[in-house]
Amino acid sequence: MNRWHRNLSDRPLCDICGVDDESDIQIFRNCKASKDLWTAIVHHQNLRGFFDLPLENWLLQNLTANQLLIGTATPWKFHFSSLLWKVWKRRNSTIFEGEGMSNADLYRMSTNWHNIMFHLRQLLKSRLIT
Ligand SMILES: [Zn+2]
Repeated sequence: MNRWHRNLSDRPLCDICGVDDESDIQIFRNCKASKDLWTAIVHHQNLRGFFDLPLENWLLQNLTANQLLIGTATPWKFHFSSLLWKVWKRRNSTIFEGEGMSNADLYRMSTNWHNIMFHLRQLLKSRLIT
């Protein structure tokens, strides 16, 4: 994924923060923009260790978590996966279009998307049962 190692970029730095070298874990979790996003939405009790796991363990833990997003009826894993997708889209739009979305816009778009998918899933379940 690192564009610099593939000679697709003339510098190793993340295009979003300009501070850290770009890598998988840096884009999705440790970039300042991503870190601010996760810190704002992950319950403070779950923040301990959230930024410490290796990428694969971090993904697995969050994509298989069974708890709900606090204050909602939607599973955290739905929210987490849609946020990852939007973080990836922000990274690409920053690199290729010169602008990325704010965390507030990213969160709002992600929430709308996973709410639609969650309700469609519920609707399909109810139609299949009746
Ligand atoms: Zn960054």
